[in-house]
Amino acid sequence: MITLSTAAALLSACSGNVQKQEESASDDFIYQVEKFADLEILRYQVPGFEELSLQQRTLLYYLSQAALEGRDILFDQNCKYNLQIRRTLEAVYENYKGDRGDEQFKALELYLKRVWFSNGIHHHYAEDKFKPGFTAEFFGKCVSAVSPEKLPLKEGQSVQQLIDELTPVIQDSTIMAKRTVQSGNDDLILASANNYYDGVTQAEVEAFYAAMKDPNDEKPVMYGLNSRLVKEDGVVKEKVWKVGGLYSAALERVVGWLEKAASVAENDAQKAVIEKLIEYYRTGDLKKFDEYAVLWVNDLDSRIDFVNGFTESYGDPLGMKASWESVVNFKNIEATKRTEIISENAQWFEDNSPVAKEFKKEKVKGVSAKVITVAMLGGDCYPATPIGINLPNSNWIRVAHGSKSVTIENITEAYDRASAGGGQTKEFAWSDVEVNMLKEFGFVTDNLHTDLHECLGHGSGKLLPGVDPDALRSYGSTVEEARADLFALYYLADKKMVELNLLPNKDAYKAEYYKYMMNGLMTQLTRVELGNNVEEAHMRNRQLIARWALENGGKECVELAKKDGKTYVVIHDYDKLRETFGKLLTEVQRIKSTGDHEAAKQLVENYGVKVDAELHKEILERFAPLNIAPYRGFVNPRYVVTTDANGAITDVQLDYTEGYMEQMMRYSKEYSSLPSVNK
Ligand code: ZN
Repeated sequence: MITLSTAAALLSACSGNVQKQEESASDDFIYQVEKFADLEILRYQVPGFEELSLQQRTLLYYLSQAALEGRDILFDQNCKYNLQIRRTLEAVYENYKGDRGDEQFKALELYLKRVWFSNGIHHHYAEDKFKPGFTAEFFGKCVSAVSPEKLPLKEGQSVQQLIDELTPVIQDSTIMAKRTVQSGNDDLILASANNYYDGVTQAEVEAFYAAMKDPNDEKPVMYGLNSRLVKEDGVVKEKVWKVGGLYSAALERVVGWLEKAASVAENDAQKAVIEKLIEYYRTGDLKKFDEYAVLWVNDLDSRIDFVNGFTESYGDPLGMKASWESVVNFKNIEATKRTEIISENAQWFEDNSPVAKEFKKEKVKGVSAKVITVAMLGGDCYPATPIGINLPNSNWIRVAHGSKSVTIENITEAYDRASAGGGQTKEFAWSDVEVNMLKEFGFVTDNLHTDLHECLGHGSGKLLPGVDPDALRSYGSTVEEARADLFALYYLADKKMVELNLLPNKDAYKAEYYKYMMNGLMTQLTRVELGNNVEEAHMRNRQLIARWALENGGKECVELAKKDGKTYVVIHDYDKLRETFGKLLTEVQRIKSTGDHEAAKQLVENYGVKVDAELHKEILERFAPLNIAPYRGFVNPRYVVTTDANGAITDVQLDYTEGYMEQMMRYSKEYSSLPSVNK
């Protein structure tokens, strides 16, 4: 499970404030790379990298290479035309002989930049297909001008056939309209453009996996996690993503780098983790994946850590198929002291939450939390990246072995530093009181919220015996995120935070409360196009919580008020708001623990999805002149490796000068082993 940035793109006033990263984040580092469409590209620093040993830096390098090799997999998972379209556009971009200042060409370039960012032709967050600013005629003309051997032609395909195939996919808004359709009355599988299923209906998928599941299995694998489900010759079957299976070419390379990584592992436990992962990639056996996850969650002593694999299932409306991702990182030892305090007290938090006793864990197991420094992002964590991660996702492993949770502080720091000087808080906060509160405590409470969300929220509570972990189906992700957020919100206001020295005073939490309500009710709508509903699970979760609190907390608690014709969130009673969050937490935990699908549906559909059109319009109008990109992502550092005459690595350094297009084009050349069409 991941936490996406709430405040990052949304808060601008809180820079230069308390609790800066302790290490060597240098002040003259340039975070901004470029801006286009609704995006801003940033660069992150990797403080502490130089202090690592050569062996550790070499390990990071090998894991980084493994992180980049899976990029094409995600493109193909997101939509079956993605690789062909990306490669066609890249070929045009590189070989175009006409005027590069031409409006049509500039529109094509912009479209390509957006495709790179989203790992496909659909918006990474809103899920809908990009509208190209260039014409079908221009596209056809450009593609025809490229020599055929540079184009991703299928066997026997002519250039004209390629143009005819791709043009409607790019131009016709009704074809492959939405990457993932999360709710509604349609068949969610047929309505979604992603490539997790082919030729099967939702009913067929549900029947296929229902037949596979054994309700008495106490250690069920995550069925369907690493395969595409297809119907061929009338038979429904899985095509497994593994070496020798689907995506083999990319996975072979991932495995190749992992083998090198195993050879320089820090210790035997870490080596065993890497080797088990390799075994899983070679067999596709989900039992092996669980064994790997158990080894991984128990490896707590290594400084370096990583995620590499089919991990999160937000992109599958049924929440089973996982997108490929990678995060390579090392522990930020100083900042981790904060999360260690939280973990040490995990049982206290569990025991004292407002949740009904029957849904609580009697014994909270192994909530291990750390603050990490990211050293490479790949797959579904790149360029848009989470700020927190809690894994593994397997329910039985979480119960039996606990989970590892991380806060990615060099990313939150980059967001924070890059926001200096923006005016969003000033525009949307009710008064100077809130602006100053956010300035002073925004960064520290935001990080603490992420810590609590990851290392307590997701790890808290339990399912009643016999409840299917997938019972909430398409509402599962939103409900799970809401549960973790509510747990964090509830405890941020607890006096325990000051006692444990996690917050400087008893009022600091109000910064996060105000920001959360402002974001959930208003500012996150800057990410949604007028007329659309809220789609993404984390956004639905935030609106759900904020709207529910607004409608159930009472006017004396929180309200939307007008000043000079503009709408603002006004919080009158923070104690009451905390109580309201507590009530909702109780209900959300009940829904999760009992698998109450109907209640989950009501909650999400009534509070999380629909948008007040008039308010939405107002927010967009106020946001536009601020010139702030609603979404942000990152370029990676480039690894510079020095070798001796025998090819042995003698030094590994990071270079921070690569631009966005430069990096994307390089990745498309150096880490692109899959065919354009993967069947
Ligand atoms: Zn989460």
